[in-house]
Amino acid sequence: MELAKRRGFIWPSFEIYGGVAGFYDFGPLGALLKNKIIQKWREFYVVREGFFEIDSPSIVPEEVLKASGHVEHFVDAMVECQKCGAAFRVADLAREQAGKDIEGMTKEEMDRFVKGHKVRCPDCGGELGKIFDFNAMFRTAIGPGSQRVGYLRPETAQGIFIDFKRLQRHARGKLPFGVVQIGKGYRNEISPRQGIIRLREFTMAEAEVFFDPGDPHHPRFSELAGEQLRLWLAKDQEEGKEQLTEVTVEQAVKAKLVCNELMAYYLALTKRFLLDLGIPNEVIRFREQTPGQRAHYSSETWDAEVLTERFGWVEIAGLAYRTDYDLSRHAQFSGEDLTIFSADKKRKVLCHVVEPSYGIDRPLYCALEHAYVQEKKRKYFRLRKELAPIEVGIFPLLNRVGMPEKAQEVYGNLKLKGFMAEYDDAGSIGRRYARADEIGVPYCVTIDHETLKQNDVTIRHRDTTKQIRVDIEKLPDVLKKLLNDEIEFDKAGKPIETTSK
Ligand SMILES: [Zn+2]
Repeated sequence: MELAKRRGFIWPSFEIYGGVAGFYDFGPLGALLKNKIIQKWREFYVVREGFFEIDSPSIVPEEVLKASGHVEHFVDAMVECQKCGAAFRVADLAREQAGKDIEGMTKEEMDRFVKGHKVRCPDCGGELGKIFDFNAMFRTAIGPGSQRVGYLRPETAQGIFIDFKRLQRHARGKLPFGVVQIGKGYRNEISPRQGIIRLREFTMAEAEVFFDPGDPHHPRFSELAGEQLRLWLAKDQEEGKEQLTEVTVEQAVKAKLVCNELMAYYLALTKRFLLDLGIPNEVIRFREQTPGQRAHYSSETWDAEVLTERFGWVEIAGLAYRTDYDLSRHAQFSGEDLTIFSADKKRKVLCHVVEPSYGIDRPLYCALEHAYVQEKKRKYFRLRKELAPIEVGIFPLLNRVGMPEKAQEVYGNLKLKGFMAEYDDAGSIGRRYARADEIGVPYCVTIDHETLKQNDVTIRHRDTTKQIRVDIEKLPDVLKKLLNDEIEFDKAGKPIETTSK
């Protein structure tokens, strides 16, 4: 986090005014990295799955969120300290002070639990008051006055559900079909204390997969049927067991551990996505939410979790079987008929939905943490090449005898060819390599005395610090092949002995 802040990946928002918990800025490198993660997500869901992407407003009128159940259910049971006035989520205090998961309890049961376990204010030790509901949506007014209540959306999904009629026409009635939305979501967290993990404004990437409830098959299920999944089943959690169940996607469906083919397929796709971010397989698991933890719209939810050093297990994505909850509620509240014909055109069906819903900020943190390497004097981000915000660093060895001019020429040419390149001429060459390592630049190009004589340059590999020499004319082509893993580093040019790192 120190490095990420110092080098411009992420930092607290509103810093010069003292900051506000639950808000983070993405700096120049963080914004690039975030866009690359979003792009990767699009490659999975829009390109590979062929889902439609839409972009709807983040301010939503109250009717929509009444229908979706968020006005009624998007609430946390809260409690206020009677001495210092600080407010807390009851479930958090119960977990911290009594080691018990009480999500799903009624308010009366929570009241008894708090008294029975002598749960106290974690700030001042004061006694806690009565439990009350707090809606976690940011409320606003649409237009002057307060005639029309609106909220900042708690999820992007509702924008998709309310466009269902137009979307299914766009899909020409074919089932299953999927729609995605990527954008900001808002949650007025009570006391976010986990940095970038618990944000009040965050970026979501959600997919709604609409299918005939009588036919929950994925047309390309066989592609991922053999993928291994590590599941932490709800029943094991309820019995206090830590053990994971390892099965293939196919076995998970056959043994009815997972509700249907579509859900199992998207669990596997989620795993593939996380692996592509450079998160190792050993730290990925899927936790089945217990009934008390599930959102009001879900009949089965799996959280994709990643183990981190700083925050423990972190939920990256939630995959929910939303059934026909949303469409039936919007049909009821809007008066529109949202049923469509089944594939055989014999029945009218109200589609069911499986929803893979991702946060983007959390996987970004996990990708950074798992890429961080500290070796003796070196520390660097071993980011996957396709995620590295800066692809190539350009350094003149010396700031004289024509090297800066030549280096500027190489730099300008690479930028024209579409490379995300950075020019650095400050300090010793060793310092410049170290700075590039710190932000995960996979390749650095140095212009030196030889360059001026024979028109070739040095390319240095971040992970091994090995160096090769390549002709300037071939540089763009070689870099492209290296970045796309189409050629081995040692074979991409003439290997050279390194004297400095
Ligand atoms: Zn207190």
